[in-house]
Amino acid sequence: MGEFELIRNYFAAAPCAQPGEGVALGIGDDCALLSVAAGEQLAISTDTLVAGVHFPDVCDPFLLGQRALGVSASDLAAMGANPIAFTLALTLPDVSGEWLQAFARGLNDMAQGCSMRLIGGDTTRGPLSLTVTVFGAVPSGMALTRGGAQVGDLLCVGGPLGDGAGALPLVLNQRSTEASTTQALLARYWSPQPQFELGLALRGKATAALDISDGLLADCGHIALASGVRLLVERDKVPMSDALKAFFDPDEALNAALSGGDDYRLAFTLPPSRLADLLAAGQPVFVIGQVVEGQGVALIDEHGQDVTPLTRGYQHFRETR
Ligand code: ADP
Ligand code: MG
Repeated sequence: MGEFELIRNYFAAAPCAQPGEGVALGIGDDCALLSVAAGEQLAISTDTLVAGVHFPDVCDPFLLGQRALGVSASDLAAMGANPIAFTLALTLPDVSGEWLQAFARGLNDMAQGCSMRLIGGDTTRGPLSLTVTVFGAVPSGMALTRGGAQVGDLLCVGGPLGDGAGALPLVLNQRSTEASTTQALLARYWSPQPQFELGLALRGKATAALDISDGLLADCGHIALASGVRLLVERDKVPMSDALKAFFDPDEALNAALSGGDDYRLAFTLPPSRLADLLAAGQPVFVIGQVVEGQGVALIDEHGQDVTPLTRGYQHFRETR
């Protein structure tokens, strides 16, 4: 199978590569063409996943396809952008029809779930790696950046944290547990669901936002720096799933929620007056702290004591638990 046959069979033929809204020209020419409405800006983000670094060398290609798009599309949600399309640069050590078919199916499932079209890419031979670039649209000036947090805002997250990091020992076959817990944690790792609806609901309301990929404390540091403020995270308010609490002892679970990576939930700052409307609209908003004067991020206990841990970011495949 040559490069062009591969592209045609597995990618151009996929349902997610067929014509769709916002896409004037898809796979097959030198460039794809996107139509951007007047008064809108294009939001663009790219992410690379390398075998052995971001995922195990041997893994289910269907799940890998889902994850590759999910983690990239999450950046659109974090900007409050509407998802439109994505490109895929695929580097493969060899060509296996079976592998490609499963990978393309996983990618397609996530694309359909996110309402995104595959509009192009590149296919090369080499060590397995995937680069996904995503495109979305946002009304001009309405994108949620990291730079607008104000003293007095609430610090919030879009759901329980730590499941992605909690899943890692399972992904790496280092540990096992009962089926329902395994399933819940692995689903969060292999099929991260970008919080598009929340991102849209936060437009014009949140003062800063990002998606948590490197761990809550590390990523909050980006908001603190860009906004010139200090973020206080209240340790006892950080939400964690039942699955994480069942799998890990309390300290491990908290560590995964604070410093583990791969959450792909939104973290954002919100003027207190905006909270009630978002909750009434059914948005998943969990208040975990506040914005104060100063710089950096601190974790505080119920007495307001600083209990910030020394390590903050998760390093893939480095720790063996
Ligand atoms: P060029 O030589 O002009 O860069 P290519 O031969 O690399 O074009 O690709 C031909 C067409 O197939 C282009 O439209 C490109 O975007 C698309 N394409 C290549 N690889 C992929 C892929 N892995 N997934 C989706 N589209 C792809
Ligand atoms: Mg090319």
